[in-house]
Amino acid sequence: MMFTPDPPWLRRFRRNLLRWYDRAGRDLPWRATRDPYAVWISEVMLQQTTVAAVKPYFERFLERFPDVAALAAADESDVLRLWEGLGYYSRGRNLHRAARVVVEQHDGRFPEDVTTLQSLPGIGRYTAGAIASFAFDVPAPIVEANTVRLYARLTGLDGDPRSTAGQRALWEFAEAIVPAKRAGAFNHALMDLGATVCTINEPRCHDCPVRSCCRAFADGRQAEIPPPKRRRQLLLTGQS
Ligand code: SF4
Repeated sequence: MMFTPDPPWLRRFRRNLLRWYDRAGRDLPWRATRDPYAVWISEVMLQQTTVAAVKPYFERFLERFPDVAALAAADESDVLRLWEGLGYYSRGRNLHRAARVVVEQHDGRFPEDVTTLQSLPGIGRYTAGAIASFAFDVPAPIVEANTVRLYARLTGLDGDPRSTAGQRALWEFAEAIVPAKRAGAFNHALMDLGATVCTINEPRCHDCPVRSCCRAFADGRQAEIPPPKRRRQLLLTGQS
Protein backbone atom coordinates (compact mmCIF):
# COMPACT_ATOMS: atom_id res chain seq x y z
CA MET A 1 0.00 0.00 0.00
CA MET A 2 1.26 3.49 -0.88
CA PHE A 3 2.55 5.58 2.01
CA THR A 4 0.38 8.63 2.80
CA PRO A 5 2.14 11.41 4.70
CA ASP A 6 0.37 12.68 7.84
CA PRO A 7 0.71 16.25 9.24
CA PRO A 8 3.55 15.51 11.74
CA TRP A 9 5.53 13.71 9.01
CA LEU A 10 4.97 16.63 6.62
CA ARG A 11 6.09 19.22 9.18
CA ARG A 12 9.26 17.30 9.99
CA PHE A 13 10.08 16.50 6.40
CA ARG A 14 9.62 20.06 5.12
CA ARG A 15 11.52 21.64 8.00
CA ASN A 16 14.47 19.24 7.79
CA LEU A 17 14.67 19.44 4.01
CA LEU A 18 14.52 23.24 3.79
CA ARG A 19 17.09 23.68 6.59
CA TRP A 20 19.43 21.36 4.74
CA TYR A 21 18.83 23.21 1.46
CA ASP A 22 19.62 26.59 3.02
CA ARG A 23 22.94 25.16 4.14
CA ALA A 24 23.88 22.71 1.39
CA GLY A 25 21.81 23.46 -1.76
CA ARG A 26 23.65 23.61 -5.07
CA ASP A 27 24.67 27.00 -6.40
CA LEU A 28 23.68 26.82 -10.08
CA PRO A 29 23.73 29.74 -12.57
CA TRP A 30 20.00 29.49 -13.37
CA ARG A 31 19.10 29.73 -9.69
CA ALA A 32 20.48 33.27 -9.46
CA THR A 33 17.28 34.47 -11.13
CA ARG A 34 13.55 33.94 -10.83
CA ASP A 35 12.96 35.13 -14.36
CA PRO A 36 10.58 32.49 -15.78
CA TYR A 37 12.24 32.81 -19.19
CA ALA A 38 15.67 31.85 -17.79
CA VAL A 39 14.13 29.09 -15.66
CA TRP A 40 12.40 27.69 -18.73
CA ILE A 41 15.56 27.76 -20.91
CA SER A 42 17.58 25.98 -18.20
CA GLU A 43 14.92 23.33 -17.61
CA VAL A 44 14.58 22.52 -21.31
CA MET A 45 18.37 22.31 -21.69
CA LEU A 46 18.61 20.02 -18.65
CA GLN A 47 16.28 17.47 -20.26
CA GLN A 48 18.59 14.59 -21.23
CA THR A 49 21.71 16.73 -20.58
CA THR A 50 23.93 17.02 -17.50
CA VAL A 51 24.26 20.14 -15.36
CA ALA A 52 27.97 20.53 -16.26
CA ALA A 53 27.25 20.34 -20.01
CA VAL A 54 24.35 22.79 -19.81
CA LYS A 55 26.19 25.64 -18.02
CA PRO A 56 28.09 27.14 -21.02
CA TYR A 57 25.10 26.67 -23.35
CA PHE A 58 22.79 28.39 -20.91
CA GLU A 59 25.10 31.40 -20.59
CA ARG A 60 25.59 31.73 -24.38
CA PHE A 61 21.89 31.35 -25.08
CA LEU A 62 20.86 34.03 -22.57
CA GLU A 63 23.51 36.38 -23.94
CA ARG A 64 22.23 35.99 -27.51
CA PHE A 65 18.48 35.84 -26.64
CA PRO A 66 18.09 37.70 -23.32
CA ASP A 67 14.29 37.53 -23.20
CA VAL A 68 11.31 35.81 -24.73
CA ALA A 69 10.72 38.63 -27.23
CA ALA A 70 14.27 38.27 -28.58
CA LEU A 71 13.85 34.52 -28.95
CA ALA A 72 10.46 34.84 -30.65
CA ALA A 73 11.89 37.34 -33.15
CA ALA A 74 14.86 35.11 -34.07
CA ASP A 75 15.18 32.85 -37.11
CA GLU A 76 14.86 29.19 -36.22
CA SER A 77 18.23 28.52 -37.86
CA ASP A 78 19.93 30.94 -35.43
CA VAL A 79 18.30 29.21 -32.47
CA LEU A 80 19.37 25.78 -33.69
CA ARG A 81 22.92 26.98 -34.33
CA LEU A 82 23.22 27.89 -30.64
CA TRP A 83 21.77 24.48 -29.79
CA GLU A 84 24.47 22.61 -31.76
CA GLY A 85 26.11 20.02 -29.54
CA LEU A 86 23.23 19.77 -27.05
CA GLY A 87 21.39 17.20 -29.19
CA TYR A 88 17.66 16.49 -29.29
CA TYR A 89 17.03 19.39 -31.68
CA SER A 90 13.27 19.16 -31.25
CA ARG A 91 13.86 20.85 -27.89
CA GLY A 92 15.36 23.89 -29.63
CA ARG A 93 12.54 24.00 -32.18
CA ASN A 94 9.89 23.77 -29.47
CA LEU A 95 11.59 26.54 -27.48
CA HIS A 96 11.34 28.81 -30.47
CA ARG A 97 7.71 27.89 -31.14
CA ALA A 98 6.74 28.33 -27.49
CA ALA A 99 8.43 31.76 -27.37
CA ARG A 100 6.22 32.87 -30.26
CA VAL A 101 3.10 31.58 -28.47
CA VAL A 102 4.06 33.48 -25.28
CA VAL A 103 4.56 36.69 -27.26
CA GLU A 104 1.50 36.34 -29.48
CA GLN A 105 -1.02 34.85 -27.05
CA HIS A 106 0.19 35.96 -23.59
CA ASP A 107 1.53 39.47 -24.29
CA GLY A 108 5.07 38.26 -23.77
CA ARG A 109 4.43 37.27 -20.14
CA PHE A 110 4.89 33.71 -18.94
CA PRO A 111 1.74 32.08 -17.57
CA GLU A 112 2.03 31.15 -13.87
CA ASP A 113 -0.35 28.22 -13.80
CA VAL A 114 0.69 24.69 -14.60
CA THR A 115 -2.18 23.93 -16.99
CA THR A 116 -1.47 26.91 -19.26
CA LEU A 117 2.26 26.27 -19.11
CA GLN A 118 1.66 22.68 -20.20
CA SER A 119 -0.20 23.88 -23.26
CA LEU A 120 3.03 25.42 -24.63
CA PRO A 121 5.10 23.38 -27.11
CA GLY A 122 7.71 21.16 -25.45
CA ILE A 123 6.52 21.79 -21.87
CA GLY A 124 5.48 18.62 -20.05
CA ARG A 125 4.16 18.18 -16.54
CA TYR A 126 7.60 18.31 -14.90
CA THR A 127 8.78 21.44 -16.73
CA ALA A 128 5.47 23.23 -16.07
CA GLY A 129 5.79 22.45 -12.33
CA ALA A 130 9.42 23.57 -12.33
CA ILE A 131 8.66 26.94 -13.99
CA ALA A 132 5.60 27.57 -11.79
CA SER A 133 7.42 26.75 -8.55
CA PHE A 134 10.94 28.07 -9.27
CA ALA A 135 9.84 31.35 -10.87
CA PHE A 136 6.53 32.07 -9.11
CA ASP A 137 6.59 29.92 -5.93
CA VAL A 138 3.34 28.26 -7.02
CA PRO A 139 2.98 25.04 -4.95
CA ALA A 140 3.26 22.78 -8.00
CA PRO A 141 4.62 19.22 -7.67
CA ILE A 142 7.61 17.91 -9.63
CA VAL A 143 8.72 14.40 -10.55
CA GLU A 144 11.97 13.92 -12.49
CA ALA A 145 14.82 11.39 -12.55
CA ASN A 146 16.38 12.24 -9.17
CA THR A 147 13.06 12.71 -7.38
CA VAL A 148 11.62 9.46 -8.76
CA ARG A 149 14.34 7.59 -6.91
CA LEU A 150 14.05 9.75 -3.79
CA TYR A 151 10.24 9.45 -3.57
CA ALA A 152 10.36 5.71 -4.25
CA ARG A 153 12.71 5.27 -1.27
CA LEU A 154 10.93 7.72 1.04
CA THR A 155 7.63 5.91 0.47
CA GLY A 156 9.06 2.39 0.32
CA LEU A 157 7.48 1.94 -3.11
CA ASP A 158 7.26 -1.66 -4.25
CA GLY A 159 7.54 -2.31 -7.96
CA ASP A 160 8.57 -0.20 -10.89
CA PRO A 161 8.40 3.58 -10.30
CA ARG A 162 8.25 4.17 -14.09
CA SER A 163 5.14 2.04 -14.55
CA THR A 164 1.81 3.82 -14.95
CA ALA A 165 0.78 2.89 -11.41
CA GLY A 166 4.20 3.88 -10.04
CA GLN A 167 4.13 7.26 -11.79
CA ARG A 168 0.60 7.95 -10.54
CA ALA A 169 1.61 7.13 -6.97
CA LEU A 170 4.74 9.31 -7.14
CA TRP A 171 2.91 12.32 -8.62
CA GLU A 172 0.30 11.98 -5.86
CA PHE A 173 3.07 11.90 -3.27
CA ALA A 174 4.77 14.96 -4.85
CA GLU A 175 1.47 16.81 -4.75
CA ALA A 176 0.93 15.91 -1.09
CA ILE A 177 4.35 17.11 0.10
CA VAL A 178 4.80 20.43 -1.73
CA PRO A 179 4.28 23.27 0.79
CA ALA A 180 2.19 26.42 0.28
CA LYS A 181 5.24 28.62 0.98
CA ARG A 182 8.77 28.35 -0.47
CA ALA A 183 7.61 25.81 -3.03
CA GLY A 184 10.48 26.73 -5.37
CA ALA A 185 13.18 26.21 -2.72
CA PHE A 186 11.46 23.01 -1.61
CA ASN A 187 11.46 21.54 -5.12
CA HIS A 188 15.09 22.57 -5.69
CA ALA A 189 15.92 20.89 -2.39
CA LEU A 190 14.26 17.63 -3.44
CA MET A 191 16.24 17.56 -6.68
CA ASP A 192 19.50 18.37 -4.89
CA LEU A 193 18.92 15.72 -2.26
CA GLY A 194 18.26 13.13 -4.96
CA ALA A 195 21.31 14.20 -6.97
CA THR A 196 23.84 14.46 -4.13
CA VAL A 197 22.68 12.33 -1.15
CA CYS A 198 19.99 9.86 -2.22
CA THR A 199 22.17 8.75 -5.09
CA ILE A 200 21.56 5.85 -7.41
CA ASN A 201 24.21 3.63 -5.84
CA GLU A 202 25.11 3.71 -2.16
CA PRO A 203 22.84 6.52 -0.97
CA ARG A 204 24.45 8.51 1.88
CA CYS A 205 21.70 7.80 4.40
CA HIS A 206 23.79 8.79 7.41
CA ASP A 207 24.20 12.31 5.98
CA CYS A 208 20.57 12.53 4.92
CA PRO A 209 18.48 15.26 6.56
CA VAL A 210 15.24 13.30 6.07
CA ARG A 211 16.31 9.82 7.10
CA SER A 212 13.87 9.92 10.02
CA CYS A 213 11.09 10.26 7.41
CA CYS A 214 12.33 7.50 5.09
CA ARG A 215 10.55 4.18 4.84
CA ALA A 216 13.34 2.48 2.91
CA PHE A 217 15.91 3.52 5.53
CA ALA A 218 13.69 2.35 8.39
CA ASP A 219 13.30 -1.02 6.72
CA GLY A 220 16.93 -1.27 5.51
CA ARG A 221 15.69 -1.52 1.91
CA GLN A 222 17.40 1.49 0.34
CA ALA A 223 19.63 -0.78 -1.79
CA GLU A 224 16.56 -2.55 -3.20
CA ILE A 225 14.51 0.51 -4.16
CA PRO A 226 14.06 1.19 -7.01
CA PRO A 227 14.51 -2.39 -8.31
CA PRO A 228 18.07 -2.79 -9.70
CA LYS A 229 17.14 -3.43 -13.32
CA ARG A 230 15.46 -0.01 -13.45
CA ARG A 231 18.43 1.88 -12.04
CA ARG A 232 20.45 2.19 -15.18
CA GLN A 233 17.43 3.55 -17.00
CA LEU A 234 16.71 6.01 -14.17
CA LEU A 235 20.31 7.17 -14.40
CA LEU A 236 20.06 7.73 -18.13
CA THR A 237 16.59 9.24 -18.29
CA GLY A 238 16.34 12.99 -17.98
CA GLN A 239 13.35 15.02 -16.90
CA SER A 240 10.67 16.20 -19.30
S1 SF4 B 1 17.58 7.98 4.19
FE1 SF4 B 1 18.77 7.17 2.49
S2 SF4 B 1 17.31 6.18 1.10
FE2 SF4 B 1 16.15 7.53 2.50
S3 SF4 B 1 15.95 9.49 1.41
FE3 SF4 B 1 17.77 9.65 2.70
S4 SF4 B 1 19.51 8.99 1.39
FE4 SF4 B 1 17.58 8.31 0.40
